[in-house]
Amino acid sequence: MTQILSEVYLDYSDILIRPKMGINLNSRRDVNLQRVFKFKHGQTRTGLGVFNANMATVGNMDVAEHLLARGMFATLHKHYSVSEIGHFLKNTTAPLDNLFITIGLKNIDADIQKLHALESEYGWVKSQNICIDAPNFYIPRALEILARVRLEFPNSVIMAGNIASGDICIKMLDYADIIKCGIGSGSACLTRRQTGCGVPMVSLILECADVAHSVGGHICADGGIVVVGDVCKAFCLNSDFVMAGGIFAGTAQAAGEIYERHFETNEIVDGVRRVETKLFKQYYGMSSEYANNKFAGGMADYKTSEGRELSVPYTGEIDKVLQDIAGGIASCCTYIGAASVKHMSKCATIIQVHNQLNRVFEKYSV
Ligand code: 5GP
Repeated sequence: MTQILSEVYLDYSDILIRPKMGINLNSRRDVNLQRVFKFKHGQTRTGLGVFNANMATVGNMDVAEHLLARGMFATLHKHYSVSEIGHFLKNTTAPLDNLFITIGLKNIDADIQKLHALESEYGWVKSQNICIDAPNFYIPRALEILARVRLEFPNSVIMAGNIASGDICIKMLDYADIIKCGIGSGSACLTRRQTGCGVPMVSLILECADVAHSVGGHICADGGIVVVGDVCKAFCLNSDFVMAGGIFAGTAQAAGEIYERHFETNEIVDGVRRVETKLFKQYYGMSSEYANNKFAGGMADYKTSEGRELSVPYTGEIDKVLQDIAGGIASCCTYIGAASVKHMSKCATIIQVHNQLNRVFEKYSV
């Protein structure tokens, strides 16, 4: 018989972090945003656990460089060639220890060759971090490929996903260091509409962190970050890393052109409706029809598109977003008495709410 789990699964918008007395700090400056990560398969990395999504729009070099320069983590998407990545590795001034090169399942032989070529031709030793990206890691081939990549690169930090249940984490952590959790939460994602599958992020983080941490693994909460407070919530819930796409998609550093859109307002000036011009950038899911046309020569006839193409408002320089993220996390720590990001989950009390934000004036804002 089909079972229905009646416990309500929660998302970021269903909870808040309750401020409280503790060893509260006087200034956000006193919060230690850097965390030392000791990974299951032997490596250590240090940084603020925020990744850009490994998508063509935001997993680009410009975005990656800015995150790395800020002491965060970064991915490069899987469609870069060896020489493009090699050129980046040689020329960037950003520290590379926290850079993850993404590979997929589809062309695994070629992708493994690509990593070997990076190692032999471009000295890719400082950044031996690999992200194995699959929309659905439940297909048996995914685990086989993960095992093979671990065999080929025994000393790398490997992040693999995506999944949306604790059960698979244990198996994956035989080979991976970080499990990327999240199915259906992404802003450019259509999986929940097209398949009915998905798990809200808050409950998912609790479940996966519990399982992964019990065997020395780490998790990355991927997708669904709408505001900086969601990053704080993910850390308080015990996620080690957070991955985000949409919040970087409108920045000057994201891939793609800026374009103008004209909107007729309700205002009449000299008998004519006033037209407002706003700037946008394109953001598309990696399973969208647009991405399939661009990178896979079209949509295969057995597939449905599980991603969409969006126009997102242009938000300017990425440094402003990164500053907001760092500032928001530091401030959260001062509300809950956490001296460092590492301590957030120990200090946080989470409350379930029906209404998390006051939106009264939002309809007036531009
Ligand atoms: P966001 O931060 O925009 O909410 O979510 C970013 C995440 O959405 C990515 O890291 C990835 O896990 C997921 N994603 C990206 N493209 C697609 C897609 O086409 N379909 C689905 N289902 N998820 C996607």
